[in-house]
Amino acid sequence: MNEEQSKKSIEALGEFGLIDHLTANFQHQNPATVYGVGDDCAVIVRDENSYSVVSTELFLENIHFDLMYVPLKHLGFKVISASVSDIYAMNARAEQVLLGVGLSSRFPLEAMEEFYEGVRNACTFYNVDLIGGDTSSSSKGLMISITAIGSVNKSDIVYRGGANTNDILMVSGDLGRPYLGLQILEREKSVFLANPTIQPELAPFDPLIKKQLMPEARKDIIGLLSQLEVVPTSMIDISDGLASELIHLCTKSKLGCIIHEEKIPYHEDTMLVASEFNLSPLTCAMNGGEEYELLFSVTQADFNKLKGNPHFTPIGYFTEELGIARLMDQSGAIHEIKAQGWTHF
Ligand code: ADP
Ligand code: MG
Repeated sequence: MNEEQSKKSIEALGEFGLIDHLTANFQHQNPATVYGVGDDCAVIVRDENSYSVVSTELFLENIHFDLMYVPLKHLGFKVISASVSDIYAMNARAEQVLLGVGLSSRFPLEAMEEFYEGVRNACTFYNVDLIGGDTSSSSKGLMISITAIGSVNKSDIVYRGGANTNDILMVSGDLGRPYLGLQILEREKSVFLANPTIQPELAPFDPLIKKQLMPEARKDIIGLLSQLEVVPTSMIDISDGLASELIHLCTKSKLGCIIHEEKIPYHEDTMLVASEFNLSPLTCAMNGGEEYELLFSVTQADFNKLKGNPHFTPIGYFTEELGIARLMDQSGAIHEIKAQGWTHF
């Protein structure tokens, strides 16, 4: 196969098709391996009553972050947030992280100290311990790899695939702000590149930019669910946009779902700034990503315990249509939800 052909076929598979394709022929050989590829974390037996959960994330300069407008201290905080978010998506406690760094000679010591200050702030914020990692030089740019480890009682673990028909779909917080934060940063970057004497005007948009640069994973939601004695039937964290995460829950649960556009929670800043960019808030929520909010489902009985709680919004429910996620718009028309494509470089 020549390079062009193999590039095409990876593109056709897409990110998740590629992962499935490459991992299909691996059988687990250890009885302690409870769940492998296909959820936010792998699940391993810890002791009689509990599981360990483990997840790895990769962050590459100019793919996942642009150091023209991302301060290294914020980046350090954000990569830890993104990693522990996958632990919370299993309804688990985050406890340890390992941090791999590849860096080119362009980074001075002060830059890496700044990055590690952000990492340390996040470790304090989430009560996780940095317990190791790896360091290497890189031919170009900065590369970060994080492995996060957590623990959960066996009876509390939540997978993507546990939903039942009519379970209510809920989302924590509000959606769309990080996407708009990114639009603002990209706009200021292009203004600056066109004319470096013009300084960026970021102050009025601070909260949206903070959501993009320094998102907080929802450790508090895991605590709240436990306090309210609610164990979701399925859960995922919103890292790639609501559309993609809804499809993951449907596919893994072998169900469909319907969500109502008018129910999706937005912050007032999202409504305001989206119109300034000629974007609908729905686009920001569906395709944005990097929210690190939690999308989960509950039974009707558990829904009564969450109803009216300002941290949670019901947006729809599961249906029997295998793998099909639908959106009812404000006019009552129904659309099939498609996840945004993945770019293979
Ligand atoms: P998330 O968005 O929650 O971080 P991903 O979409 O990155 O999850 O990954 C989906 C699943 O595929 C996870 O179980 C992950 O561990 C697994 N996975 C991703 N890349 C690879 C790979 N290269 N080899 C094996 N498993 C992978
Ligand atoms: Mg995830």
